[in-house]
Amino acid sequence: MKNQETPTLKNKSASKSAIPPEVIEAVKTLENKGFEAFPVGGCVRDLLLGLSPKDWDITTNARPEEIIAAFPKTFYENDFGTVGVVFEQATDQTVKLIEVTPYRLEGKYEDYRHPSEVVFAKKIEDDLKRRDFTVNALAIRLSGDAIKDIIDLYGGFKDIKDKIIRTVGNPVDRFQEDALRMLRAVRLATQLRFTIDESTKMAIQNHADLLQHISRERIRDEFVKILMSDEPKKGIELAQELALLRHFIPELEESIGVKQNQAHAYEVWEHLLRSLQHAADKKWPLEIRLAALFHDISKPETKGFSRETQQITFYGHEVVGSRVTKKILERLKFPAKTIEKVVKLVRWHMFFADPEKLTLSAVRRMVVNVGRENIWDLMNVRVCDRIGTGRPKEEPYRLRKYQSMIEEALRDPVSVAMLKISGGEMIKKLGMKPGPRIGAILHALLEEVLEDPKLNTAEYLENRASELNKLSDSELEKLAKEGKKLKQEKNEAEVGEIRQKFHVK
Ligand code: ATP
Ligand code: MG
Repeated sequence: MKNQETPTLKNKSASKSAIPPEVIEAVKTLENKGFEAFPVGGCVRDLLLGLSPKDWDITTNARPEEIIAAFPKTFYENDFGTVGVVFEQATDQTVKLIEVTPYRLEGKYEDYRHPSEVVFAKKIEDDLKRRDFTVNALAIRLSGDAIKDIIDLYGGFKDIKDKIIRTVGNPVDRFQEDALRMLRAVRLATQLRFTIDESTKMAIQNHADLLQHISRERIRDEFVKILMSDEPKKGIELAQELALLRHFIPELEESIGVKQNQAHAYEVWEHLLRSLQHAADKKWPLEIRLAALFHDISKPETKGFSRETQQITFYGHEVVGSRVTKKILERLKFPAKTIEKVVKLVRWHMFFADPEKLTLSAVRRMVVNVGRENIWDLMNVRVCDRIGTGRPKEEPYRLRKYQSMIEEALRDPVSVAMLKISGGEMIKKLGMKPGPRIGAILHALLEEVLEDPKLNTAEYLENRASELNKLSDSELEKLAKEGKKLKQEKNEAEVGEIRQKFHVK
Protein backbone atom coordinates (compact mmCIF):
# COMPACT_ATOMS: atom_id res chain seq x y z
CA MET A 1 0.00 0.00 0.00
CA LYS A 2 1.46 3.31 -1.05
CA ASN A 3 1.62 6.53 0.84
CA GLN A 4 -1.47 8.17 -0.63
CA GLU A 5 -3.48 5.04 0.14
CA THR A 6 -2.65 5.18 3.81
CA PRO A 7 -5.87 3.92 5.31
CA THR A 8 -8.37 6.13 6.98
CA LEU A 9 -8.35 4.58 10.38
CA LYS A 10 -10.85 4.65 13.15
CA ASN A 11 -10.37 6.72 16.26
CA LYS A 12 -7.34 8.63 14.98
CA SER A 13 -5.45 5.43 15.51
CA ALA A 14 -3.09 6.25 12.65
CA SER A 15 -1.90 9.40 14.32
CA LYS A 16 1.62 9.13 15.59
CA SER A 17 0.45 9.18 19.18
CA ALA A 18 -1.25 5.81 18.71
CA ILE A 19 2.10 4.09 18.46
CA PRO A 20 3.85 4.17 21.83
CA PRO A 21 7.10 6.14 21.94
CA GLU A 22 9.04 3.02 22.99
CA VAL A 23 8.00 1.25 19.80
CA ILE A 24 9.10 4.18 17.68
CA GLU A 25 12.35 4.36 19.61
CA ALA A 26 13.03 0.66 19.10
CA VAL A 27 12.44 0.95 15.34
CA LYS A 28 14.69 4.02 15.12
CA THR A 29 17.43 2.35 17.13
CA LEU A 30 17.53 -0.56 14.70
CA GLU A 31 17.30 1.71 11.65
CA ASN A 32 20.19 3.81 12.92
CA LYS A 33 22.29 0.65 12.93
CA GLY A 34 21.39 0.11 9.30
CA PHE A 35 18.66 -2.49 9.80
CA GLU A 36 15.05 -2.61 8.68
CA ALA A 37 12.40 -2.78 11.41
CA PHE A 38 8.60 -2.83 11.36
CA PRO A 39 5.83 -3.17 13.91
CA VAL A 40 4.02 -6.30 12.74
CA GLY A 41 1.22 -8.78 13.39
CA GLY A 42 -1.54 -8.52 15.98
CA CYS A 43 -0.57 -5.03 17.12
CA VAL A 44 -1.03 -3.62 13.61
CA ARG A 45 -4.36 -5.39 13.29
CA ASP A 46 -5.58 -4.00 16.61
CA LEU A 47 -4.32 -0.52 15.81
CA LEU A 48 -6.27 -0.50 12.53
CA LEU A 49 -9.36 -1.66 14.40
CA GLY A 50 -9.03 1.20 16.86
CA LEU A 51 -8.29 -1.23 19.69
CA SER A 52 -5.31 -0.75 21.95
CA PRO A 53 -2.80 -3.51 21.24
CA LYS A 54 -1.94 -5.74 24.22
CA ASP A 55 1.62 -6.32 23.09
CA TRP A 56 3.87 -4.86 20.42
CA ASP A 57 6.00 -6.96 18.12
CA ILE A 58 8.71 -5.73 15.81
CA THR A 59 10.18 -7.71 12.95
CA THR A 60 13.65 -6.94 11.62
CA ASN A 61 16.44 -8.20 9.41
CA ALA A 62 18.82 -7.94 12.36
CA ARG A 63 19.88 -11.26 13.90
CA PRO A 64 19.36 -11.98 17.62
CA GLU A 65 22.98 -11.06 18.52
CA GLU A 66 22.63 -7.81 16.62
CA ILE A 67 19.34 -6.97 18.33
CA ILE A 68 20.88 -7.70 21.73
CA ALA A 69 23.85 -5.47 20.91
CA ALA A 70 21.61 -2.57 19.84
CA PHE A 71 19.76 -2.16 23.16
CA PRO A 72 20.95 -1.62 26.72
CA LYS A 73 18.59 -4.14 28.32
CA THR A 74 17.29 -7.27 26.65
CA PHE A 75 16.57 -10.88 27.40
CA TYR A 76 16.73 -13.85 25.13
CA GLU A 77 15.30 -17.13 26.15
CA ASN A 78 13.38 -18.84 23.40
CA ASP A 79 13.85 -20.92 20.32
CA PHE A 80 12.30 -18.54 17.84
CA GLY A 81 14.98 -15.85 17.77
CA THR A 82 12.76 -13.41 19.65
CA VAL A 83 14.58 -10.85 21.78
CA GLY A 84 12.70 -9.06 24.55
CA VAL A 85 13.70 -5.41 24.67
CA VAL A 86 13.09 -3.84 28.05
CA PHE A 87 12.26 -0.16 28.55
CA GLU A 88 12.98 0.71 32.14
CA GLN A 89 11.66 4.26 32.10
CA ALA A 90 8.31 3.28 30.68
CA THR A 91 5.37 4.61 32.66
CA ASP A 92 2.24 2.66 33.35
CA GLN A 93 0.59 3.89 30.19
CA THR A 94 3.44 2.92 27.93
CA VAL A 95 5.17 -0.21 26.82
CA LYS A 96 7.73 -1.87 29.05
CA LEU A 97 8.61 -4.77 26.84
CA ILE A 98 8.77 -5.08 23.09
CA GLU A 99 9.39 -8.37 21.38
CA VAL A 100 11.80 -8.02 18.48
CA THR A 101 12.02 -11.02 16.17
CA PRO A 102 14.25 -11.52 13.15
CA TYR A 103 12.51 -12.13 9.82
CA ARG A 104 11.72 -15.79 9.76
CA LEU A 105 10.79 -18.42 7.25
CA GLU A 106 8.99 -21.44 8.55
CA GLY A 107 11.33 -24.37 8.66
CA LYS A 108 10.30 -27.92 8.03
CA TYR A 109 7.09 -29.06 9.64
CA GLU A 110 6.81 -32.28 11.45
CA ASP A 111 3.74 -33.67 13.18
CA TYR A 112 1.54 -30.69 12.22
CA ARG A 113 3.11 -28.57 14.92
CA HIS A 114 5.12 -25.48 14.65
CA PRO A 115 8.42 -25.84 12.89
CA SER A 116 11.15 -28.04 14.17
CA GLU A 117 13.78 -25.50 13.20
CA VAL A 118 13.80 -21.74 12.81
CA VAL A 119 15.19 -20.31 9.62
CA PHE A 120 15.93 -16.61 9.41
CA ALA A 121 14.97 -14.75 6.24
CA LYS A 122 16.39 -11.72 4.45
CA LYS A 123 13.20 -10.01 3.38
CA ILE A 124 10.11 -8.76 5.18
CA GLU A 125 8.05 -10.44 2.44
CA ASP A 126 9.18 -13.85 3.63
CA ASP A 127 8.33 -13.05 7.22
CA LEU A 128 4.81 -11.93 6.34
CA LYS A 129 4.27 -15.05 4.27
CA ARG A 130 4.71 -17.38 7.27
CA ARG A 131 2.08 -15.57 9.38
CA ASP A 132 -1.21 -17.29 9.97
CA PHE A 133 -3.94 -14.92 8.77
CA THR A 134 -4.08 -11.99 6.37
CA VAL A 135 -5.22 -9.70 9.18
CA ASN A 136 -2.10 -10.73 11.13
CA ALA A 137 0.26 -10.31 8.18
CA LEU A 138 0.45 -6.52 8.10
CA ALA A 139 3.50 -4.42 8.95
CA ILE A 140 3.86 -0.69 9.54
CA ARG A 141 6.59 1.25 7.78
CA LEU A 142 7.43 4.26 9.91
CA SER A 143 8.87 7.54 8.74
CA GLY A 144 10.12 9.37 11.77
CA ASP A 145 7.24 9.31 14.24
CA ALA A 146 4.52 8.86 11.64
CA ILE A 147 3.14 5.92 9.72
CA LYS A 148 4.52 6.07 6.19
CA ASP A 149 2.56 3.13 4.87
CA ILE A 150 1.25 -0.29 5.67
CA ILE A 151 2.93 -3.27 4.06
CA ASP A 152 -0.01 -5.39 2.99
CA LEU A 153 0.87 -8.25 0.65
CA TYR A 154 -2.18 -10.42 1.27
CA GLY A 155 -5.15 -8.09 1.39
CA GLY A 156 -5.15 -7.99 5.18
CA PHE A 157 -6.30 -4.40 5.25
CA LYS A 158 -9.39 -5.20 3.21
CA ASP A 159 -10.08 -8.28 5.33
CA ILE A 160 -9.94 -6.15 8.46
CA LYS A 161 -12.44 -3.77 6.87
CA ASP A 162 -14.67 -6.68 5.85
CA LYS A 163 -14.10 -8.44 9.18
CA ILE A 164 -12.82 -11.69 7.68
CA ILE A 165 -10.33 -14.24 9.01
CA ARG A 166 -8.55 -15.81 6.05
CA THR A 167 -5.31 -17.76 5.96
CA VAL A 168 -2.26 -16.42 4.17
CA GLY A 169 -2.08 -18.81 1.23
CA ASN A 170 -3.76 -22.20 0.93
CA PRO A 171 -5.63 -22.94 4.17
CA VAL A 172 -5.14 -26.70 4.00
CA ASP A 173 -1.38 -26.30 3.67
CA ARG A 174 -1.25 -23.76 6.45
CA PHE A 175 -3.26 -25.94 8.83
CA GLN A 176 -1.12 -28.93 8.00
CA GLU A 177 1.94 -26.86 8.91
CA ASP A 178 0.49 -25.89 12.28
CA ALA A 179 -2.90 -27.26 13.29
CA LEU A 180 -3.29 -24.81 16.17
CA ARG A 181 -4.06 -22.15 13.57
CA MET A 182 -7.52 -23.70 13.18
CA LEU A 183 -8.34 -22.92 16.78
CA ARG A 184 -6.65 -19.52 16.49
CA ALA A 185 -9.04 -18.75 13.63
CA VAL A 186 -12.01 -19.48 15.88
CA ARG A 187 -10.48 -17.54 18.75
CA LEU A 188 -9.71 -14.45 16.67
CA ALA A 189 -13.12 -14.54 14.97
CA THR A 190 -14.71 -14.70 18.43
CA GLN A 191 -12.61 -11.96 20.01
CA LEU A 192 -12.92 -9.60 17.06
CA ARG A 193 -16.46 -10.55 15.99
CA PHE A 194 -15.16 -11.46 12.54
CA THR A 195 -16.39 -14.24 10.27
CA ILE A 196 -14.13 -16.96 8.93
CA ASP A 197 -13.72 -17.01 5.16
CA GLU A 198 -15.56 -19.93 3.52
CA SER A 199 -12.57 -21.83 2.16
CA THR A 200 -10.67 -21.33 5.42
CA LYS A 201 -13.74 -22.65 7.24
CA MET A 202 -14.01 -25.68 4.97
CA ALA A 203 -10.37 -26.50 5.48
CA ILE A 204 -10.87 -26.43 9.25
CA GLN A 205 -13.93 -28.66 9.03
CA ASN A 206 -12.06 -31.16 6.90
CA HIS A 207 -8.85 -31.19 8.90
CA ALA A 208 -10.08 -30.60 12.43
CA ASP A 209 -8.65 -33.92 13.57
CA LEU A 210 -5.13 -32.56 13.06
CA LEU A 211 -5.73 -30.76 16.34
CA GLN A 212 -4.84 -33.97 18.15
CA HIS A 213 -1.19 -33.30 17.32
CA ILE A 214 -1.19 -30.03 19.23
CA SER A 215 -0.09 -29.74 22.84
CA ARG A 216 -2.83 -29.38 25.44
CA GLU A 217 -1.26 -26.21 26.79
CA ARG A 218 -1.47 -24.39 23.46
CA ILE A 219 -5.06 -25.54 23.04
CA ARG A 220 -5.90 -24.43 26.56
CA ASP A 221 -4.54 -20.95 25.94
CA GLU A 222 -6.81 -20.45 22.93
CA PHE A 223 -9.77 -21.99 24.79
CA VAL A 224 -9.23 -19.57 27.67
CA LYS A 225 -9.12 -16.63 25.26
CA ILE A 226 -12.44 -17.75 23.77
CA LEU A 227 -13.97 -18.01 27.24
CA MET A 228 -12.64 -14.61 28.30
CA SER A 229 -13.96 -12.88 25.17
CA ASP A 230 -17.25 -11.00 25.21
CA GLU A 231 -19.00 -13.70 23.21
CA PRO A 232 -17.82 -17.08 24.43
CA LYS A 233 -21.15 -18.72 23.52
CA LYS A 234 -20.61 -17.97 19.86
CA GLY A 235 -16.99 -19.04 20.10
CA ILE A 236 -17.77 -22.47 21.55
CA GLU A 237 -20.59 -22.91 19.04
CA LEU A 238 -18.22 -22.13 16.21
CA ALA A 239 -15.60 -24.53 17.57
CA GLN A 240 -18.30 -27.18 17.68
CA GLU A 241 -19.63 -26.40 14.23
CA LEU A 242 -16.14 -26.66 12.76
CA ALA A 243 -15.58 -30.03 14.46
CA LEU A 244 -12.75 -28.76 16.67
CA LEU A 245 -14.47 -28.97 20.04
CA ARG A 246 -14.69 -32.78 20.00
CA HIS A 247 -10.91 -32.92 19.93
CA PHE A 248 -10.42 -31.12 23.20
CA ILE A 249 -13.72 -31.36 25.16
CA PRO A 250 -15.68 -34.24 23.65
CA GLU A 251 -17.75 -34.42 26.88
CA LEU A 252 -19.44 -31.11 26.07
CA GLU A 253 -20.80 -32.27 22.74
CA GLU A 254 -22.69 -35.06 24.44
CA SER A 255 -25.08 -32.50 25.87
CA ILE A 256 -26.31 -31.58 22.41
CA GLY A 257 -29.92 -32.63 22.00
CA VAL A 258 -30.36 -33.73 25.63
CA LYS A 259 -33.84 -32.59 26.68
CA GLN A 260 -34.73 -31.50 30.21
CA ASN A 261 -37.91 -31.10 32.24
CA GLN A 262 -40.34 -28.19 32.01
CA ALA A 263 -38.39 -25.92 34.34
CA HIS A 264 -35.91 -25.59 31.50
CA ALA A 265 -36.60 -23.84 28.23
CA TYR A 266 -33.46 -25.31 26.63
CA GLU A 267 -31.67 -28.56 26.14
CA VAL A 268 -28.49 -29.08 28.18
CA TRP A 269 -26.01 -27.82 25.55
CA GLU A 270 -27.87 -24.56 24.99
CA HIS A 271 -28.36 -24.18 28.74
CA LEU A 272 -24.62 -24.52 29.42
CA LEU A 273 -23.73 -22.02 26.71
CA ARG A 274 -26.27 -19.52 27.95
CA SER A 275 -24.98 -19.90 31.49
CA LEU A 276 -21.45 -19.28 30.24
CA GLN A 277 -22.59 -16.27 28.25
CA HIS A 278 -24.18 -14.73 31.31
CA ALA A 279 -20.89 -15.03 33.19
CA ALA A 280 -19.23 -13.17 30.30
CA ASP A 281 -21.98 -10.52 30.21
CA LYS A 282 -21.24 -9.94 33.89
CA LYS A 283 -17.48 -9.86 33.19
CA TRP A 284 -17.00 -12.57 35.81
CA PRO A 285 -13.63 -14.32 36.08
CA LEU A 286 -12.42 -17.47 34.36
CA GLU A 287 -13.33 -19.87 37.17
CA ILE A 288 -16.97 -18.82 37.12
CA ARG A 289 -17.06 -19.08 33.33
CA LEU A 290 -15.61 -22.58 33.48
CA ALA A 291 -18.03 -23.64 36.20
CA ALA A 292 -20.96 -22.16 34.28
CA LEU A 293 -19.91 -24.07 31.16
CA PHE A 294 -19.38 -27.38 32.94
CA HIS A 295 -21.91 -27.37 35.77
CA ASP A 296 -24.32 -29.76 34.05
CA ILE A 297 -21.74 -31.61 31.97
CA SER A 298 -22.81 -34.98 33.37
CA LYS A 299 -26.53 -34.57 32.86
CA PRO A 300 -26.42 -36.76 29.74
CA GLU A 301 -24.94 -39.71 31.60
CA THR A 302 -27.12 -39.37 34.70
CA LYS A 303 -30.39 -38.83 32.88
CA GLY A 304 -33.32 -40.88 34.17
CA PHE A 305 -37.10 -40.77 34.44
CA SER A 306 -39.22 -40.78 37.56
CA ARG A 307 -42.49 -42.69 37.10
CA GLU A 308 -43.78 -41.19 40.28
CA THR A 309 -43.48 -37.57 39.17
CA GLN A 310 -43.44 -38.29 35.44
CA GLN A 311 -40.36 -36.08 35.20
CA ILE A 312 -36.90 -36.38 33.70
CA THR A 313 -34.30 -36.68 36.47
CA PHE A 314 -30.55 -36.12 36.68
CA TYR A 315 -29.79 -37.51 40.12
CA GLY A 316 -26.22 -37.02 41.23
CA HIS A 317 -25.22 -35.10 38.10
CA GLU A 318 -23.34 -32.57 40.21
CA VAL A 319 -21.24 -35.30 41.84
CA VAL A 320 -20.40 -37.05 38.58
CA GLY A 321 -20.05 -33.66 36.90
CA SER A 322 -17.44 -32.46 39.36
CA ARG A 323 -15.35 -35.56 38.61
CA VAL A 324 -15.71 -35.12 34.86
CA THR A 325 -14.84 -31.43 35.19
CA LYS A 326 -11.67 -32.37 37.07
CA LYS A 327 -10.70 -34.78 34.33
CA ILE A 328 -11.25 -32.19 31.59
CA LEU A 329 -9.33 -29.44 33.36
CA GLU A 330 -6.44 -31.75 34.22
CA ARG A 331 -6.29 -32.93 30.64
CA LEU A 332 -6.04 -29.31 29.50
CA LYS A 333 -3.31 -28.64 32.07
CA PHE A 334 -5.10 -25.93 33.98
CA PRO A 335 -3.32 -24.85 37.18
CA ALA A 336 -4.18 -26.92 40.28
CA LYS A 337 -5.79 -23.93 42.02
CA THR A 338 -8.13 -23.26 39.13
CA ILE A 339 -9.11 -26.91 38.97
CA GLU A 340 -9.79 -27.11 42.68
CA LYS A 341 -12.04 -24.09 42.65
CA VAL A 342 -14.02 -24.97 39.53
CA VAL A 343 -14.53 -28.54 40.72
CA LYS A 344 -15.98 -27.25 44.01
CA LEU A 345 -18.27 -24.83 42.24
CA VAL A 346 -19.59 -27.61 40.00
CA ARG A 347 -19.91 -30.02 42.93
CA TRP A 348 -22.06 -27.65 44.99
CA HIS A 349 -23.91 -25.76 42.26
CA MET A 350 -27.25 -27.29 43.25
CA PHE A 351 -27.07 -25.79 46.71
CA PHE A 352 -29.02 -22.59 46.17
CA ALA A 353 -31.54 -24.35 43.97
CA ASP A 354 -33.99 -24.91 46.79
CA PRO A 355 -34.66 -21.48 48.26
CA GLU A 356 -37.64 -22.48 50.39
CA LYS A 357 -35.63 -24.91 52.47
CA LEU A 358 -32.60 -22.77 52.99
CA THR A 359 -31.62 -22.34 56.63
CA LEU A 360 -28.75 -20.46 58.15
CA SER A 361 -27.13 -23.64 59.40
CA ALA A 362 -27.33 -25.10 55.87
CA VAL A 363 -25.56 -22.01 54.54
CA ARG A 364 -22.93 -22.39 57.26
CA ARG A 365 -22.34 -25.99 56.22
CA MET A 366 -22.05 -24.94 52.61
CA VAL A 367 -19.47 -22.30 53.53
CA VAL A 368 -17.45 -25.15 55.02
CA ASN A 369 -17.94 -27.38 51.95
CA VAL A 370 -17.14 -24.88 49.24
CA GLY A 371 -14.81 -22.68 51.30
CA ARG A 372 -15.30 -19.13 52.58
CA GLU A 373 -13.39 -17.75 49.62
CA ASN A 374 -15.71 -19.43 47.12
CA ILE A 375 -19.16 -18.93 48.55
CA TRP A 376 -19.91 -15.72 46.65
CA ASP A 377 -18.69 -17.27 43.43
CA LEU A 378 -21.02 -20.20 44.05
CA MET A 379 -23.83 -17.70 44.33
CA ASN A 380 -22.80 -16.22 40.98
CA VAL A 381 -22.68 -19.64 39.34
CA ARG A 382 -26.24 -20.05 40.50
CA VAL A 383 -27.16 -16.74 38.89
CA CYS A 384 -25.63 -17.97 35.60
CA ASP A 385 -27.46 -21.29 35.95
CA ARG A 386 -30.74 -19.52 36.54
CA ILE A 387 -30.37 -17.16 33.56
CA GLY A 388 -29.25 -20.12 31.47
CA THR A 389 -32.59 -21.88 32.00
CA GLY A 390 -34.31 -19.06 30.17
CA ARG A 391 -36.26 -18.12 33.25
CA PRO A 392 -36.39 -14.50 34.29
CA LYS A 393 -33.88 -13.11 36.74
CA GLU A 394 -34.17 -14.26 40.30
CA GLU A 395 -36.81 -12.43 42.23
CA PRO A 396 -34.74 -9.60 43.69
CA TYR A 397 -35.98 -10.17 47.21
CA ARG A 398 -34.98 -13.81 47.18
CA LEU A 399 -31.56 -13.02 45.81
CA ARG A 400 -30.99 -10.43 48.50
CA LYS A 401 -32.15 -12.94 51.11
CA TYR A 402 -29.47 -15.39 49.95
CA GLN A 403 -26.85 -12.68 50.05
CA SER A 404 -27.90 -11.66 53.51
CA MET A 405 -27.76 -15.23 54.77
CA ILE A 406 -24.31 -15.76 53.29
CA GLU A 407 -23.02 -12.67 54.99
CA GLU A 408 -24.62 -13.76 58.24
CA ALA A 409 -23.02 -17.19 57.95
CA LEU A 410 -19.62 -15.65 57.22
CA ARG A 411 -19.79 -13.34 60.20
CA ASP A 412 -17.72 -14.29 63.25
CA PRO A 413 -20.33 -14.23 66.00
CA VAL A 414 -19.70 -12.28 69.14
CA SER A 415 -18.61 -14.87 71.71
CA VAL A 416 -16.02 -15.62 74.37
CA ALA A 417 -13.93 -17.12 71.53
CA MET A 418 -12.92 -13.58 70.56
CA LEU A 419 -11.23 -12.99 73.93
CA LYS A 420 -7.44 -13.02 74.05
CA ILE A 421 -7.65 -15.57 76.83
CA SER A 422 -9.24 -19.02 76.95
CA GLY A 423 -10.59 -21.27 79.67
CA GLY A 424 -7.69 -23.63 79.11
CA GLU A 425 -5.16 -20.85 79.64
CA MET A 426 -6.89 -19.77 82.82
CA ILE A 427 -6.57 -23.30 84.18
CA LYS A 428 -2.98 -23.74 83.03
CA LYS A 429 -1.49 -20.32 83.68
CA LEU A 430 -3.60 -19.10 86.57
CA GLY A 431 -4.12 -22.43 88.31
CA MET A 432 -7.91 -22.16 88.31
CA LYS A 433 -10.09 -25.22 88.76
CA PRO A 434 -12.19 -26.53 85.87
CA GLY A 435 -15.90 -25.89 86.43
CA PRO A 436 -18.76 -23.45 85.83
CA ARG A 437 -16.81 -20.52 87.37
CA ILE A 438 -14.47 -20.53 84.36
CA GLY A 439 -17.38 -19.91 81.95
CA ALA A 440 -18.78 -17.22 84.24
CA ILE A 441 -15.43 -15.41 84.41
CA LEU A 442 -15.11 -15.55 80.60
CA HIS A 443 -18.52 -13.95 80.18
CA ALA A 444 -17.71 -11.31 82.75
CA LEU A 445 -14.53 -10.55 80.80
CA LEU A 446 -16.51 -10.47 77.58
CA GLU A 447 -18.79 -7.82 78.98
CA GLU A 448 -15.83 -5.57 79.75
CA VAL A 449 -14.26 -6.13 76.34
CA LEU A 450 -17.51 -5.38 74.54
CA GLU A 451 -17.76 -2.12 76.44
CA ASP A 452 -14.12 -1.28 75.76
CA PRO A 453 -12.41 -3.35 73.01
CA LYS A 454 -8.99 -1.93 73.97
CA LEU A 455 -9.07 -4.16 77.05
CA ASN A 456 -8.82 -7.28 74.90
CA THR A 457 -5.15 -8.05 75.65
CA ALA A 458 -3.75 -11.22 77.21
CA GLU A 459 -2.06 -9.24 79.93
CA TYR A 460 -5.13 -7.31 81.11
CA LEU A 461 -7.41 -10.33 80.87
CA GLU A 462 -5.07 -12.55 82.91
CA ASN A 463 -4.89 -10.03 85.72
CA ARG A 464 -8.59 -9.36 85.62
CA ALA A 465 -9.42 -13.09 85.59
CA SER A 466 -7.41 -13.57 88.80
CA GLU A 467 -9.30 -10.70 90.40
CA LEU A 468 -12.68 -12.00 89.30
CA ASN A 469 -11.76 -15.41 90.64
CA LYS A 470 -11.83 -13.93 94.13
CA LEU A 471 -15.54 -13.08 93.85
CA SER A 472 -18.24 -15.28 95.30
CA ASP A 473 -20.26 -17.57 93.04
CA SER A 474 -23.32 -15.35 93.17
CA GLU A 475 -21.39 -12.12 92.51
CA LEU A 476 -19.69 -13.77 89.57
CA GLU A 477 -22.96 -15.13 88.23
CA LYS A 478 -24.42 -11.64 88.21
CA LEU A 479 -21.53 -10.24 86.15
CA ALA A 480 -21.66 -13.21 83.77
CA LYS A 481 -25.37 -12.62 83.16
CA GLU A 482 -24.61 -9.03 82.14
CA GLY A 483 -21.97 -10.33 79.69
CA LYS A 484 -24.35 -12.84 78.15
CA LYS A 485 -27.02 -10.24 77.69
CA LEU A 486 -24.64 -7.83 76.03
CA LYS A 487 -23.34 -10.61 73.78
CA GLN A 488 -26.84 -11.42 72.61
CA GLU A 489 -27.66 -7.77 71.97
CA LYS A 490 -24.50 -7.24 69.94
CA ASN A 491 -25.17 -10.34 67.86
CA GLU A 492 -28.73 -9.26 67.16
CA ALA A 493 -27.58 -5.79 66.23
CA GLU A 494 -24.98 -7.12 63.79
CA VAL A 495 -27.43 -9.47 62.12
CA GLY A 496 -29.94 -6.62 61.98
CA GLU A 497 -27.41 -4.46 60.19
CA ILE A 498 -26.73 -7.16 57.60
CA ARG A 499 -30.43 -7.64 56.95
CA GLN A 500 -30.96 -3.93 56.66
CA LYS A 501 -28.09 -3.70 54.19
CA PHE A 502 -29.86 -6.21 51.92
CA HIS A 503 -33.32 -4.89 52.72
CA VAL A 504 -34.59 -8.22 53.94
CA LYS A 505 -36.42 -9.33 57.05
P1 ATP B 1 -3.24 -11.41 20.62
O1 ATP B 1 -4.11 -10.24 20.44
O2 ATP B 1 -3.88 -12.48 21.41
O3 ATP B 1 -1.86 -11.11 21.07
P2 ATP B 1 -1.97 -12.02 18.13
O4 ATP B 1 -2.52 -12.17 16.75
O5 ATP B 1 -1.07 -10.88 18.40
O6 ATP B 1 -3.18 -12.03 19.12
P3 ATP B 1 0.17 -13.64 19.09
O7 ATP B 1 0.13 -15.04 19.59
O8 ATP B 1 0.58 -12.53 19.98
O9 ATP B 1 -1.28 -13.38 18.49
O10 ATP B 1 1.11 -13.67 17.80
C1 ATP B 1 1.61 -12.50 17.20
C2 ATP B 1 1.66 -12.68 15.70
O11 ATP B 1 2.48 -13.80 15.36
C3 ATP B 1 0.33 -12.98 15.04
O12 ATP B 1 -0.39 -11.79 14.77
C4 ATP B 1 0.75 -13.69 13.79
O13 ATP B 1 1.22 -12.78 12.82
C5 ATP B 1 1.93 -14.51 14.26
N1 ATP B 1 1.55 -15.85 14.72
C6 ATP B 1 1.22 -16.24 15.98
N2 ATP B 1 0.95 -17.54 16.04
C7 ATP B 1 1.10 -18.02 14.80
C8 ATP B 1 0.97 -19.31 14.20
N3 ATP B 1 0.61 -20.38 14.93
N4 ATP B 1 1.24 -19.42 12.88
C9 ATP B 1 1.60 -18.35 12.15
N5 ATP B 1 1.71 -17.13 12.65
C10 ATP B 1 1.49 -16.94 13.95
MG1 MG C 1 -0.10 -10.43 20.20
